[in-house]
Amino acid sequence: MTILEKVTALLGEGAVLEAGTDRVPRVAPGSPDAIALLLGTAHQEGWRVRIEGAGTWLQSDAPADLALTTRRLDRIPAIEPSDLTATAEAGIGLDQLRQQLADRGAWLAIDPPGLAGRTLGSVVSTATAGPLRHGFGPIKDHLLGVTFVTGDGRMVQSGGRVMKNVAGYDLTRLQAGGFGAFGVIVLVHLRLRTLPRADVTYVLEGAREDLTQVGEDIAAAGLTPAALELVSPALARRERWVLAVRLAGSPALVAADEAGLGAASGGGRFAPLRAEEAHAFWMRLA
Ligand SMILES: Cc1cc2nc3c(=O)[nH]c(=O)nc-3n(C[C@H](O)[C@H](O)[C@H](O)COP(=O)(O)OP(=O)(O)OC[C@H]3O[C@@H](n4cnc5c(N)ncnc54)[C@H](O)[C@@H]3O)c2cc1C
Repeated sequence: MTILEKVTALLGEGAVLEAGTDRVPRVAPGSPDAIALLLGTAHQEGWRVRIEGAGTWLQSDAPADLALTTRRLDRIPAIEPSDLTATAEAGIGLDQLRQQLADRGAWLAIDPPGLAGRTLGSVVSTATAGPLRHGFGPIKDHLLGVTFVTGDGRMVQSGGRVMKNVAGYDLTRLQAGGFGAFGVIVLVHLRLRTLPRADVTYVLEGAREDLTQVGEDIAAAGLTPAALELVSPALARRERWVLAVRLAGSPALVAADEAGLGAASGGGRFAPLRAEEAHAFWMRLA
């Protein structure tokens, strides 16, 4: 029996996808239990397995007998806007998750790079954060817990769905940036924030040294921007350097920070970006 025949017998035909350009067979288990079954069998049989989310990033050059993709793990078992928590399967696209959270008035305050279909599991696994890291911390700060399957097929739950957790080894933080070394992430328990009712981006153009000083003044004034970046002319697609400030939160908080921004601007004038412009700008920076 070939590996694919064994996998088909184990998980059904629906789990076997067409091989990619690398010709490595691609398997898409439909549940965390199916992943545990597959990895347990792979361990016994000595198959080498590569982990993939949506497969949008670099191909691994490590030799593999099959690629395990999480793309069928795309459910969101729980969104609790009142607790500001959610549990999502690792293969869900980040933008799809973001939309469903927004529909419930909740926000996952991360803006990692990558294409729209990039998966939640890959973002945790690579710990890729974007400019919102300034205001809301690295990826690990957004995790309450992670459920993963080890290379020999054991399901491990670390952390949980609530803010308070039992003491012990913090395997959740180990998974953030672990690149799958500790197993395949199957479920992620997330810490959310209320969807900001005000979200504005201001930019100030000038010489790099002057803008650096303004950035320091903003920090010294105790303002709390969601993102604060000094951007080169090439990246900003402007004539000069740009200091970009994103304010997000309640209208009252944002209004207070806007007033503080004027005072810290060193005589320059911050200009607001239109919502679409701001979105494209921050995506480019991520
Ligand atoms: C150093 C670096 C450079 C990058 N360069 C680019 C770039 O040039 N272009 C670009 O578009 N994006 C780049 N990215 C970001 C990339 O788009 C993100 O990692 C994105 O989240 C990938 O989404 P995906 O679902 O397609 O993941 P994939 O490309 O399928 O996987 C990305 C990595 O995550 C691991 N992984 C995925 N899911 C899981 C899981 N459930 N459990 C454990 N491990 C998992 C994979 O093994 C792989 O190492 C880069 C990221 C990093 C860290």
